[in-house]
Amino acid sequence: MDTKKRHEHKNCRQLLGSLSEYVDGELDEELCGVLEQHLDGCEDCRIVVDTLRKTVYLYHESAKAEDIPSDIRKRLYKSLNIEDYLGK
Ligand SMILES: [Zn+2]
Repeated sequence: MDTKKRHEHKNCRQLLGSLSEYVDGELDEELCGVLEQHLDGCEDCRIVVDTLRKTVYLYHESAKAEDIPSDIRKRLYKSLNIEDYLGK
């Protein structure tokens, strides 16, 4: 019944560290593949990516900004508890 038995949380932490680049489309093609493969089997990470993508998209739509200032990005991450997640 342990659905997280094969879940390597170590990978999650590594991959979540690359999420901002991934969502921005700045991540290496190779790393993108690794990340997407992991997302296939990891619902936790998928939820984080989905949420981050939607938030970034909505921000771009409303602000028509090319780049998200780092302080806003930081606040965004904090609101998504990514830092808590990474800190575990
Ligand atoms: Zn994961």
